[in-house]
Order: sequence, then C-alpha cells, then structure tokens
Amino acid sequence: MGIHMQVIIALLLGIKRNGHIFIGLLLGIIVGCFLPKVDYPTVYNVLSFVGTAFINTIQMVVLPLVVSAIIIGISNIGDSKQLTKLGSKMIFYYAIITVLAVIIAIAVAMIMQPGLSAKGLITHDVAASVQGYVTSALEYQKDNMVQIFLDLIPKNPFEALSTGKMIPIIIFTTVFAVALSKAGDISRPLVSIFESIFAATMKITDWIMYLAAPGVFALTACAVSTCGVGVFNNISKYIIAVILALAIQFFAVYPLIMKIFSKVPVGKLYSAITEAIMVAFGTASSSATLPLTITCCEKRGISNRVCSFVLPLGATLNMDGTAIMQVVAVLFMCQMYGIEVSLLLIAEIAFLAIVASSTSAGIPGAGMITIALILNGVGLTPEQLVLGFSLLFAVERFVDMFRTICNVTSDCVVAAMIADNENELNYELLCNEVQKGNA
Ligand code: ASP
Repeated sequence: MGIHMQVIIALLLGIKRNGHIFIGLLLGIIVGCFLPKVDYPTVYNVLSFVGTAFINTIQMVVLPLVVSAIIIGISNIGDSKQLTKLGSKMIFYYAIITVLAVIIAIAVAMIMQPGLSAKGLITHDVAASVQGYVTSALEYQKDNMVQIFLDLIPKNPFEALSTGKMIPIIIFTTVFAVALSKAGDISRPLVSIFESIFAATMKITDWIMYLAAPGVFALTACAVSTCGVGVFNNISKYIIAVILALAIQFFAVYPLIMKIFSKVPVGKLYSAITEAIMVAFGTASSSATLPLTITCCEKRGISNRVCSFVLPLGATLNMDGTAIMQVVAVLFMCQMYGIEVSLLLIAEIAFLAIVASSTSAGIPGAGMITIALILNGVGLTPEQLVLGFSLLFAVERFVDMFRTICNVTSDCVVAAMIADNENELNYELLCNEVQKGNA
C-alpha cells in the first residue's frame, strides 16, 4: 500500500476515534455556509462567544505548560553534551522540513501561477477595509531585521510573560533551565515545583478537551461564515495552490523524512495525533493546540523528556505551513502586479520566508503580519500592498486553518523521529490499537 494511502487510512481511523470533534468540524462548515455573518449577525455573535471561550480556556494553560515543560525537559536531559545533541538534532530536522516546504511552495506557485487569474479583481472599496491591517504590517516591516532579532531577547522576562510574547519567553526559559540544570542539587526543589505545575496543566488539558467538539464547531462556523462562500471564487487558484503545497508536505514530505531518518511507522503516528490535527484546524493556533499535542504524543509513547523539550519549541519556532503560505502569497502578489520574478528574487523570498515564519507566533493570523518582512524585499508600493492584502485577507482564516495543521504535524513528526533516534519511543504504545482510545 502506498504511503499516502496509509496516511489517509490512519487519519480516518483517528477521525473515527475522535468522531465527536470531526462532527463538530463538519457541522461548523455547514452552519458557516448556510448562515453567513452578514445575514445572521446574532448567530455569529453566539458562535464567536463559544469559540472565543474555548480558545481562551486552552490559552489559559499554555504559558504555565510551556514554561514548566521546557524546564523539566532541559533538566531531564541533564548534561550539556546531551542537550547539544538533542538541540542540534531538533534544529536539523526543523530546518530540513522548512527548507523543503519553501521549495515545494515555490514550485507550486511558479507552475500554477495563481496571481495571473487575479489580475483585475482588485477594487478600491475592498482595499479600504484592510487599510488599518496593512498599516500595522508595514509598521512591522519598517523595523529592520536586526531589530526584529533584538526584540526576541527579553529585556524584562516578567514583561514578556505578562504580555505572552512566546519567543522571548522561550528564550529566557531555555537559558534559565540550562542554568538550573548546571546548578546541581540545589535546583531540585524548584524543578519539582515545575513538575507539579506541568502535571496539573496536563490534567486541566484533559478536562478542556471535553469542550473540543463544541469549541471546534463554533470556531469553524465563525471562520466559514465570515469568509463567505463567494470570496472563494475570486482567488480560488491561490487557495488551491496553498492547500496543494501543504498537502504535498503533509502526505509526501513528512512520511519521506520519517522513512529516511527513523523507523517511526508513519500511519501509526498520524493516527495517534489526529485529535491534535483537528483541534489545530479548528483553532488555527499551534500554541493553543500545544497542550493537546503533548498529550497525544506522550500517551502514544514519545518520552516526556523529548516531548517537553521539542514540542513547546516547535510550536513557536517551527512554522513550515506558515512558510508555505507566505511564499505562495508573495509570488501571487508578484504575478498579480506583473513583477518579474528572477532567480535571485526567488532565493530572497525563500530565505526571508524561513526567517519570517520562524518569528511568527503560534496564533491565528500571525503569518499574515510577519509576511511584511518578505514583501519588504519585493518592491511593492504601499498602495499595491493594500490592494493585494485585501484579497488575501478575505480568505486568511480559512487558509490559516490548513497551514496550522502542517505546523502542528511537523512538530509531532520531529518529536517522534528524535524519540526514535534516542530509543525513547515506546513502540508498543504507539502501535497498540487498545491504547488508541486513550490518546
Ligand atoms: N496560525 C498559525 C499557527 O498558529 C500561525 C500563522 O501562520 O499565522 O501555527
């Protein structure tokens, strides 16, 4: 049986196990199509209330979970040789996945040329409605690259914690955790406290997952009813190009990488993480999905040591799905405005997409803000940007749901491969059908 068939069957099995979430998702799409926001604002408000309550509830545990997971993960690794080994392996795998994502996105966008069919669609009315959004994107773009990197180092870690800036938080926590692991026995009581915090947040995650079906239903319905069905006709080629590139990444690249670098059974892993994949689709947020991503991976045999180190870092830094969207979107705009796409420009877009996606937070719409970093290098005027954004923004949430699936799946793929390489993957748990009900 072909690898993509194995993946599809695994996903179907996973969906069967988590049928309630899948039904929520389907119902959300149907309700969203039939009750558009413009005609049924009250229904939309109720759905938006339920969806936002669900996201807020998950986000409530993200911060304590990320901080405690990284501290436990790094202190469990112990000596610095091990830490360097795991860290470099993680960076190596994340880098391969993102580079391949960018190459696929370029190939798909250059072959399909989605921007050509969008020429002439741009109206000034639509453009005016996203002016504010573009202004903030351009504001971001004004900061040069050096400043963007400098901003990642938190001057005040407590301020970063209180404002929920994930990358600075992760940088501080990682440094702090390494220091704790070097401090010897004296750090043990503090690490124990974080172990308790981690256990408690995982318990809360279990409880929150009872709300997953209504939450995913409400979020999906809101997203579909906001976009409206009509908008899809306008730039359907862009949407198809992004989803096609994401599908190649999901069905071909991840399985191939797993085959080359590990003996992880692809179908079993996909089946184990289907619940996280569906929640990623519904929430469009890797950070919000993180508690569930960790639960799925740990319950199905990936060691706590690997999960708590690789997954929180991945949920913030590894954004291959976002990189795919950014490359296709930028090439879409170039084609729409007839900008000549030279090899040099493609290389520049590829490099900037890797940087921009890695600096995107794991929240809905983050990739649409950091895309400004890439557009800076392309030479579009602010007016052209407003017009281009107005089209992309109309389908942004919809596209975001798909790319977040890749962002979350690749984190799990890397965690599984590292666990396999380190002999920390319990194959019995991963392959045992009986355990699936618990995942
Ligand atoms: N929503 C994506 C995520 O959370 C980030 C983005 O591409 O906007 O992974």
